[in-house]
Amino acid sequence: MSAVPVSIGVRMTGRSAVAVAGVAAHDTSGVAEPGSPLVDTHGRVHRDLRISLTDRCSLRCTYCMPEQGNEWLARSSILSLDEIERVARVAAAAGVTTFRLTGGEPLLRTDIVDVVRRLSEIRGPEGTPVELAMTTNGIRLPELLPGLVDAGLRRLNISLDTLRRDRFHELTRRDRLDDVIAGIAAAAASGLRPLKLNAVAMRDVNDDELADLVAFALANGAEMRFIEQMPLDAGHTWDRSRMVTRDEILHALSARWALTPVPGRGGAPAERWLLDGGPATVGVIASVTAPFCGDCDRLRLTADGQLRNCLFSTTEYDLLPIMRAVPGASADPSEATVDDDIDRMLRSCVHGKLPGHAINDPSFLQPARGMNAIGG
Ligand code: SAM
Repeated sequence: MSAVPVSIGVRMTGRSAVAVAGVAAHDTSGVAEPGSPLVDTHGRVHRDLRISLTDRCSLRCTYCMPEQGNEWLARSSILSLDEIERVARVAAAAGVTTFRLTGGEPLLRTDIVDVVRRLSEIRGPEGTPVELAMTTNGIRLPELLPGLVDAGLRRLNISLDTLRRDRFHELTRRDRLDDVIAGIAAAAASGLRPLKLNAVAMRDVNDDELADLVAFALANGAEMRFIEQMPLDAGHTWDRSRMVTRDEILHALSARWALTPVPGRGGAPAERWLLDGGPATVGVIASVTAPFCGDCDRLRLTADGQLRNCLFSTTEYDLLPIMRAVPGASADPSEATVDDDIDRMLRSCVHGKLPGHAINDPSFLQPARGMNAIGG
């Protein structure tokens, strides 16, 4: 345990409700000791850290961001490369084995190759290399991918909701389908596997293209994965009655392929099916109609240094006061003390994780942050 007062900050979502509190501000009894795995009170072991590198994006997908008037995170609050590496290193020491870089659009970060290189050099307690993956819109992949692979990137998920240019333009408010397709081609040629393409299934937007998207993924050596639309849009316009469900997706695909469930999902968000007996597969992430919270092993770090234990959480655990000198602090904490405090904050965040996200509960409250500021 650290000898200095531990800054365990619980920041309620909503910028005004920041409270950097002492340990007593929330119940941390039963928080596991440093060195032990990140196990929550429901027995889930946390192995996956989603790291959002920026809330900025080159697209404006309607289900994610507003076209205009987005409140960007303050540039001064965005974690530096050193700060990101530091949190990742402490997380790896606590048993995290996978880092997934996301955003916003992670490839907009000017130091992205350095981020990948520094994170890929991190080792777990037994010297095991971490697995480094990225979720991207693919637009900058043609220019950046060789450097990213050289730096240690191992897996890619690329978002593609439609193959039709007019729809893409309408949906993302940018005319960049050709750039995304070029990014997918670069990823396919790079040999990084498994390569996954993600589409949010939307009624009267792309639900007539589901099979075409699967065929496109197959032609590029990728797995198509459909995501049920979640209430994470900046405009808070999500409507359950309008969302395309897992069962509807499977029904549409079964008109073209025989679908056989793939067993052994573990903590993965996607349920997978073999297409016509395999080996090709398709995945569905049914966060709304078939939540998989019971096996969730994920934590999130936002670009502005907030730890979150769930996409839908309304509580954040603020790492900034730990990593940056607090005005008026009597003494600079040592490096080891800062790492200890980050470790304690990780454990506190895990300890506070609820059994499920409660989207289906009438009392569900959408988080104030849009998906681009949480990290998808
Ligand atoms: N810019 C990158 C990209 O396009 O993949 C990474 C960030 S994006 C927020 C990550 C993923 O979240 C994308 O696959 C996107 O489709 C998904 N996403 C965003 N908003 C969503 C929502 N409301 N419901 C379901 N998925 C969403």
